[in-house]
Amino acid sequence: MEKFQGNPVSNGIAVGEVYKYVPYQAVVEEATVGAEEVKAEIAKFDAAKAGAQKELEAIRANLEKNDPEKAKIFSAHLEILNDPALDDGVREKIEDDNFAVKWAIEKTFTKFIKMLSRVKDDLIRERIPDMQDVKGRLLRNCDGVAEVNLAALTKPVIVVAHDLFPSDTASLNRAMVKAIVTEVGGATSHTAIIARSYEIPALLGVTGAMDILKDDQVVAVDAVDGELVTDPDAETVAFYEEKARKNAIHVAETKKYLGVTPVTKDGVRIEVELNIASGSVQELENAKYTDGVGLFRSEFLYMGRTELPTEEEQVTIYKKVLTEYGDRPVILRTMDIGGDKKLDCMELPVEENPFLGNRAVRLSFTYPEIFKTQLRAALRAAVAGNLWVMFPMIGSMDDIRKAKGYVEECRQELAAEGVPYGEIKIGIMVEIPSIAMIADIAAKEVDFCSIGTNDLTQYSTAVDRMNPAVSKYYQTYHPALFRLIGHVVKSFNEAGKEVSVCGEMGGDKLAAAVLMGLGMRRLSMGASGLAQTKKMITHVTIPQVEEMARTVVNLPTAGDVEAYLKEALADVL
Ligand code: PEP
Ligand code: MG
Repeated sequence: MEKFQGNPVSNGIAVGEVYKYVPYQAVVEEATVGAEEVKAEIAKFDAAKAGAQKELEAIRANLEKNDPEKAKIFSAHLEILNDPALDDGVREKIEDDNFAVKWAIEKTFTKFIKMLSRVKDDLIRERIPDMQDVKGRLLRNCDGVAEVNLAALTKPVIVVAHDLFPSDTASLNRAMVKAIVTEVGGATSHTAIIARSYEIPALLGVTGAMDILKDDQVVAVDAVDGELVTDPDAETVAFYEEKARKNAIHVAETKKYLGVTPVTKDGVRIEVELNIASGSVQELENAKYTDGVGLFRSEFLYMGRTELPTEEEQVTIYKKVLTEYGDRPVILRTMDIGGDKKLDCMELPVEENPFLGNRAVRLSFTYPEIFKTQLRAALRAAVAGNLWVMFPMIGSMDDIRKAKGYVEECRQELAAEGVPYGEIKIGIMVEIPSIAMIADIAAKEVDFCSIGTNDLTQYSTAVDRMNPAVSKYYQTYHPALFRLIGHVVKSFNEAGKEVSVCGEMGGDKLAAAVLMGLGMRRLSMGASGLAQTKKMITHVTIPQVEEMARTVVNLPTAGDVEAYLKEALADVL
């Protein structure tokens, strides 16, 4: 039994078996075989196909119980696997051209994918990522390597990884993941955000976890106090089971506040909105408890796939969320790719400092066609509800004007094509200090802003939000941040423009109280923050939180702020 420390970023406790996640990438080289080996290559193909068939059937059967929508994806994969044209194509390449099996699979699938990419029909083109997926599955089976895929887990496990990319977390089967442990990643990494939204306990920054832990080893993950215990004895297991039970009671007590209307004791209504990433049914479960979507992280639609999402596909998803929300606003953030969010469907240059690089709106400006596809989809979907479009990583007035220029261009194109589109509000994320400092000027140019406190903290304190080595310097309670946020809120309130917060501070009851004291009346957060934030709102008065804000901006350190807030809010926590 050994104990290790980690950063508890998503509340919960779990005891279970380790599953080490290392995604497999097959190497394919141009290769031919002698005539005498052809038979053996065909046999390898048959075996790989049978292996893939078995895997897909198992995943589908498993998902049919928990997530029938996702199960359909794997039915489509089975169809591709058994497509006669593909099957014949691979066999011909082996038999007629003497290709080695992996090379034959690679060439045949690539030919079909190329053909599909030229088809105008979006529905047909949407099959390309599925074909890529099936190709990868076949190649891995040729190598005799077992499946590694978080969507395909068949028993509940503790997932241990060096790092998880947002696409891994977005596709994981949450019923099978008892907890997540990674070697890197901080509280505002996207792994943490997704883990919280799925309510999966997560312990990040456990240095050396991949070397220390073995597959199937039993561990206890305490994502309340930040500890991991290997091979716990019976007494320790009992201890954690009891702790998990008490923790669950506390969480359930707080959850009672999920359905209450967020009004302060002195009658001020605070808008509480939801952060979402995919618009899936599970994500929208909490729609009824919220006043809108304060942040739709649309870049998740681009992840875990090998083709960019089409305009039609985006229209469908945006309309689904807008329809669900009716008159309530849905704030769609245009794609925020870069930083820790990478894409399979675009080859982006590796950068020395990705968080300071060609990220978010900057990347959209680099690829205007991709940006315009998204803006056109947004404008078209806007007929279905109350859509607000927001640009991430805005650093200057030039950025704002340029982004608005693209919106106008898309409007004109749609009008010229006679395609119906709706009204939208246009806003920015305030997450770079340079725009926060001139919020009074920016407020004149946009309809609204939302403060991204995750990046605002990163860029104000000069701390990489992903790097555990410097996580102690990533201080969300730094008084400087409250001063900066205060300036933004005041500027937008004075200009009569909407201002909200959608970073993790919005769902942190201590910080959210200060934000209200600074004049914020709209808070957006992941589902896991809703109940505790509503509880806090209903227990305070505006003069009380204003007093807290006045105190906090004059305290010297983040530690002082945290200690003060814990004491000031002790009876409502
Ligand atoms: C933020 O930076 O606070 C934010 C909400 O955006 P993201 O976490 O997706 O970068
Ligand atoms: Mg951000």
